[in-house]
Amino acid sequence: MKNIVILGSTGSIGKQTIEVIKAHSHHFRAAGLSGRSNFELLAEQAKELKPAAVAMSNPAAARQLAMALKDTPIRVLEGMAGLEELIALSEVHLVVNALVGSAGLLPTLRAIGAGKDLALANKESLVAGGEIVMPLLREKEATLIPIDSEHSALFQCLQGEEPSSVRRIILTGSGGPFRGKTKRDLKRVTVEEALAHPRWKMGRKVTIDSATLMNKGLEVIEAHHLFGLSYDQIEVVIHPQSIVHSLIEFHDGSLKAHLGFTDMRIPIQYALSYPSRFPSSLVGLDLVELGSLTFESPDQETFPCLSLAFEAGRKGGTYPAVLNAANEEAVAAFLSREIGFLQIPQIIEEVLSSHISFAGELDFALLQEVENWARGEARSLIGKKRS
Ligand code: MG
Repeated sequence: MKNIVILGSTGSIGKQTIEVIKAHSHHFRAAGLSGRSNFELLAEQAKELKPAAVAMSNPAAARQLAMALKDTPIRVLEGMAGLEELIALSEVHLVVNALVGSAGLLPTLRAIGAGKDLALANKESLVAGGEIVMPLLREKEATLIPIDSEHSALFQCLQGEEPSSVRRIILTGSGGPFRGKTKRDLKRVTVEEALAHPRWKMGRKVTIDSATLMNKGLEVIEAHHLFGLSYDQIEVVIHPQSIVHSLIEFHDGSLKAHLGFTDMRIPIQYALSYPSRFPSSLVGLDLVELGSLTFESPDQETFPCLSLAFEAGRKGGTYPAVLNAANEEAVAAFLSREIGFLQIPQIIEEVLSSHISFAGELDFALLQEVENWARGEARSLIGKKRS
């Protein structure tokens, strides 16, 4: 029996992780759950799965949750300290980090520090903190299994291979709902249009990131850290059918690809069952029905977020954290209709260009300081664009 903690169990990945746990209840048990403020859903999940403890980051919601669970033996924890306690529970084998945004970095560091295996859906942990997460992972000899579908694909293709035999990787992306559009077309797109992703069912933040191609940019930085590759070894190709989830080219000229139906429960289940592969009721692919798969270059002129991410990744240090924090603020402002779609990359670019790299060793405190600065800069730019 594998005891699992899900950080962010009320979100899209969290809910699908619960489905996987329920489908394999002889192998997996939910030992802990956490959410930000949706205490009703967390209470419902806790009553069904009976974990030892639950945590809620919002204190008011934590009190509501404690009321809802007062007739159960389930412990209710609160805030970041509560998350840390949940992660450190002695019976926990695997932590699923399905938090949204750079708030996921500290729990990632705590999980690795506590010697737990980590199934990572929170790509921002590696984007902002890859330079501190990866050395800690090596030091603790901990296991990190990616849940992001492209990285799960690459991780699966690498099983049984020598890492040094990788020549390059090809990250695929659907191109999002605005593939083929021009900047002029995108001037007045609405939040609803940006949220209508053609292939994947995901949370709001990552869906907007898919529409701007920032999601692919963040995934490039994530892949750089996870697989120890230079940015010249990472290529992005648009593949609208989203059937090929990424490819590895080896130094003998062979390529391995991972194909599958677009369903996040496949990479989630692999992360939970790794190194085994469990059966699932999910359907495979009908290649004849699919007929053809197509590939094209990304339009970096219309979607500048991808090149902004490559640039920040190449600079390294604090730049990727600045890119990510500015993006989080710009996306939130777009979702609350404060700025237009095309202003998202403008804000990120302006914040990046006014950033001066910090000298000295990178650590969590420095990253936080830099992030706070980037958020403040982004918010002041958002204010100016509104007025
Ligand atoms: Mg992805």
